[in-house]
Amino acid sequence: MKSNDNTRRSFIKNISVGVGAAALAPNLSFLEACASTVENKKLGIALIGLGGYAGGQLAPALQKTKNCYLAGIVTGTPSKEATWSQQYNIPQKNIYNYGNFDEIAKNKDIDIVYIVLPVSMHKEFTIRGAKAGKHVICEKPMALNAADCQLMIDACKKADRMLSIGYRLHFEPYNMEMMRLGQKQVFGKVQTIEAENGFVYGGDPNAWRLKKALSGGGALMDMGVYAIQGARYVTGEEPLYVTARQEKTKPELFKDVDETIFWKLEFPSGAVSNGKSSYNNNWGRLEAKAQNGKFWLEPAYAYGGQAGGTSKGEFNFPHIVQQAAQMDDFAQCVLNKKQTRVPGEEGMKDMKVVDAIYRSLQSGKREKIV
Ligand code: NAD
Repeated sequence: MKSNDNTRRSFIKNISVGVGAAALAPNLSFLEACASTVENKKLGIALIGLGGYAGGQLAPALQKTKNCYLAGIVTGTPSKEATWSQQYNIPQKNIYNYGNFDEIAKNKDIDIVYIVLPVSMHKEFTIRGAKAGKHVICEKPMALNAADCQLMIDACKKADRMLSIGYRLHFEPYNMEMMRLGQKQVFGKVQTIEAENGFVYGGDPNAWRLKKALSGGGALMDMGVYAIQGARYVTGEEPLYVTARQEKTKPELFKDVDETIFWKLEFPSGAVSNGKSSYNNNWGRLEAKAQNGKFWLEPAYAYGGQAGGTSKGEFNFPHIVQQAAQMDDFAQCVLNKKQTRVPGEEGMKDMKVVDAIYRSLQSGKREKIV
């Protein structure tokens, strides 16, 4: 834990005296706030859904956070209650199931609920969480479609609670550098972006990810959102049009959801992004070509191990625990009543693109993103 803290502090120190201090001012001011927090106020987080991501990434990251801690769990699997309670020292009074979840409203230990469930359940639990008076972090993709995202945003506004999406890469130094280089036009105007994300699906053929009613779609929903995000945060623009096509080599496995999709996004500046998502290819690249040079990451979207560079040389930033930085940021935002840099609106922007990609696959035409 210590060495990670030190790495994070030295990153902040290096970057604030060197590259990008001015360019990334809002981001850096947050990181500095985190690094110099003297007050020991920690907000309680309850994880809802104790599957692979909650157990493999979020709970371990919550052992490294400074401004929040794992205070409670919400699970539909009774056998997980004892295991988690023992491993993470969670008292019985902070353990809920999907049925009695609304009683969490009375629990002062829980400030934030973090939804790590199949996509079809994101809307319901965001709305129930906000109604229970809790701030909400919801995993990506935010919901089944952009219309549901709007309902989630509205519910949180009505309850006066903050809503954030689990976009961990906004806190990851290599991706932050891609944002800076693109948005500040360090190599001139960005002209093209290649953004591709995928893996070869070898999991359970009956998993929720392969059922459209639960996932909303296949690799585009699961992996493609990162590639869409990448293009959006490198340009700092919202795309206007998309044209998409798809390929299916394993129709028996991906009968209900997309396997591989290719799309072209058109941005207001004239920049174009060629994107790809797949459950049948190991991809993880983000590359931008600008007027006077290029910059790239590969792997770009992984939990760690980011690498890349520019036409002038390799990047050399520290590797941090992305989820710890992300959750600490949200806790800071709640504590200081500051807008998160990854609010519900950010998730909805990606879902508008996803909706338009699916429309383009249906129509076979270029579609406006609305
Ligand atoms: P998972 O299948 O490992 O876990 C899902 C959890 O939901 C399980 O605990 C399961 O018991 C529970 N669940 C409740 N109702 C269910 C139902 N009807 N069907 C299936 N499971 C049900 O999935 P995961 O990989 O942990 O993904 C959960 C969410 O986290 C998804 O939105 C996913 O996109 C997101 N995620 C984000 C990242 C990231 O890097 N930000 C990484 C992985 C997953």
